[in-house]
Amino acid sequence: MQCALHCGGKMKYRIDEKSGNRLSALGFGIMRLPKGVGGVGAIDMKKSERLIMKAIGEGVNYIDCAYLYAGSEAALGKILSANNARDKVYIATKLPITKCKKNEDFDRFFSEQLASLQTDHVDYYLMHNINDLIQWQGLKAIGIEKWIERKKSAGQIKQIGFSFHGTRAEFLKVIDDYDWDFCQIQYNYSDENYQAGVTGLRRAAQKHMPVIIMEPLLGGKLANGLPKRVEDTFKRVNPNLSPAAWGLRWLLNQPEVTVILSGMNGDDQLTDNLRTADSIEPRELTSAELTAYAEAVKIFRESYKIPCTGCGYCLPCPQGINIPGCFASHNASYAIGRVTGFVQYVTSTGANRVTASTASKCAACGKCARHCPQNIDIPNRMKDVARRMEPLYMKLVIKAIRKVV
Ligand code: SF4
Ligand code: SF4
Repeated sequence: MQCALHCGGKMKYRIDEKSGNRLSALGFGIMRLPKGVGGVGAIDMKKSERLIMKAIGEGVNYIDCAYLYAGSEAALGKILSANNARDKVYIATKLPITKCKKNEDFDRFFSEQLASLQTDHVDYYLMHNINDLIQWQGLKAIGIEKWIERKKSAGQIKQIGFSFHGTRAEFLKVIDDYDWDFCQIQYNYSDENYQAGVTGLRRAAQKHMPVIIMEPLLGGKLANGLPKRVEDTFKRVNPNLSPAAWGLRWLLNQPEVTVILSGMNGDDQLTDNLRTADSIEPRELTSAELTAYAEAVKIFRESYKIPCTGCGYCLPCPQGINIPGCFASHNASYAIGRVTGFVQYVTSTGANRVTASTASKCAACGKCARHCPQNIDIPNRMKDVARRMEPLYMKLVIKAIRKVV
């Protein structure tokens, strides 16, 4: 499709090998659709419609929402219906698994979602935020497999997958435990070993699963808020690329990446992202660019307080603590920003669940430390993590999140 935004390119597509669908390399994540003044209040429908329809006009054909992203499904349903555009996009949305306690809940949420989206089927349906195998097995115990089978045979769900925020080891168990059609992981250049990481990405690709990337720019922090030294490093190699473009190009360079979800709030972001998505095919980064990414990671690491490489040798922890996830979010809270670190902490420890295994649950048994090649004094560093990531006000925020999800 030819670009009408004058961004100089045309949308590139990657093949979903399981379905044969051609998916746009740039997808639209609508978790944070534009809102009223100051980014608060109800979704600004006019602005959202203009952005989404512009993106579709430029060839974006994958839109990701979720039951838990307040108002996102209803907004998308209205926009697609008003513009007669349902058949121009693949809709991805998610089952709020933490709210599913019994089999009937699956149908209850799914029917509500179809009604909000004003559609009779979901193209890409995900179990929202599986953190570990136990969580997936809990869903199996209340009949999720038969339910999926029924929905697929009825044509109401086309492709089934899951989004993931746990450890690499758990990711590998979850993808081997079911015949998934696709998955969604958090992945960006700032830490390629975070959560499922590059190992998870490649394993999924070996299984011919399309991989959808979320948080490619760490909630915008890799676009706005890069340390100056990182920005200068990039500028020295190519002053014409924005920090966001650097973030997306690192992902687009990898053939295992299928769709990159970006939450786009304005025309400038949309145009920049479209230009970037159009600008590169897999394995086209130059050696100067690859060196710049390595330098950027080195700069990030210098501000890390705990030298964890995310290898996972310390796992499993008898308390179920995601040790590398705790350390990565603690480090990100220094390198990138406190809010980003906290969001990572909540998602990777499952702090939003009552059964969460947060750093403060560490029993100081010392089992993990014996296996750490970095010789990290894990029990003591867990205390540091708990102090920084779980102060009283954070505990109150977590309590509030638990009520919503
Ligand atoms: S010391 Fe703490 S983090 Fe390490 S295995 Fe024991 S309980 Fe888990
Ligand atoms: S073994 Fe050490 S370096 Fe590896 S993930 Fe655990 S804490 Fe990090």
